[in-house]
Amino acid sequence: MSNGKPRVVVKVGTSTLAYPSGGINFREMDALTRVLADMMNMGLQVVLVTSGAIGVGMGKLGLTERPRDTPGKQAAATVGQCELMYLYDKMFSEYGCTVGQLLITKGDVEDPERHKNLVSVFERLFSYNALPIVNENDAVAVEEIVYGDNDNLSAIVAQLVRAQKLIILTDTDGLYDSNPKLNPGATLIPLVEEMTPDILALAQKSGSDLGTGGMVTKLQAARLATKAGIDTYVINARPVDNLYRLLDGESVGTWFRGGKP
Ligand code: GLU
Repeated sequence: MSNGKPRVVVKVGTSTLAYPSGGINFREMDALTRVLADMMNMGLQVVLVTSGAIGVGMGKLGLTERPRDTPGKQAAATVGQCELMYLYDKMFSEYGCTVGQLLITKGDVEDPERHKNLVSVFERLFSYNALPIVNENDAVAVEEIVYGDNDNLSAIVAQLVRAQKLIILTDTDGLYDSNPKLNPGATLIPLVEEMTPDILALAQKSGSDLGTGGMVTKLQAARLATKAGIDTYVINARPVDNLYRLLDGESVGTWFRGGKP
């Protein structure tokens, strides 16, 4: 169904796209769009799962703190999502790449009819050679229906489009055997063959769970995606050329080997 073209889902988080103030990190965002557009030109079918709606909205509204209540988060997301898509559209256009926005809620994935519609729209976008950009629909997502983090969402999307690879970009080099911020001897784990309880426990120990996601949700995402047979990679978003190295077959970050679905 993918016309023989390999499909790759790339997830990027707020910490790559924006400064702590919520201001856009143009250098990182532009570099990422250039590489993703290049990947499309290489013949890959690419989906971008992006965070940043709430963070960027916060910056644009001049809020000094991330809103804690649901209406506050929703309002910030409506503003930030606009800004994000405006910039993605502009930057991707410069690299000759057409994008489409999909804002997803849990119900769209879990309801069989809506699930089917969602799969169809992805397929159509691929057939038009457009790049789908996905976020959770934070403007309407309330606690009961929310995925809440885009790491898990990216694993769901990777399953929806039957991707070969899920690449989660983050601000560390991958999964370590202990917290690298506290332990200078911490070693990067290049390959995880199986999501054992010992591996899952590493994220709790790492204490790196500062943002919405952190390593805990990345491991949850890796577990979901690898169960569906999808090779999952957690790699440093910086430098963005890490994506090229990974696609060239180099060992970058942590590779969670996809199991037999
Ligand atoms: N959907 C949220 C946003 O765009 C991000 C969730 C996450 O950080 O994983 O702000």
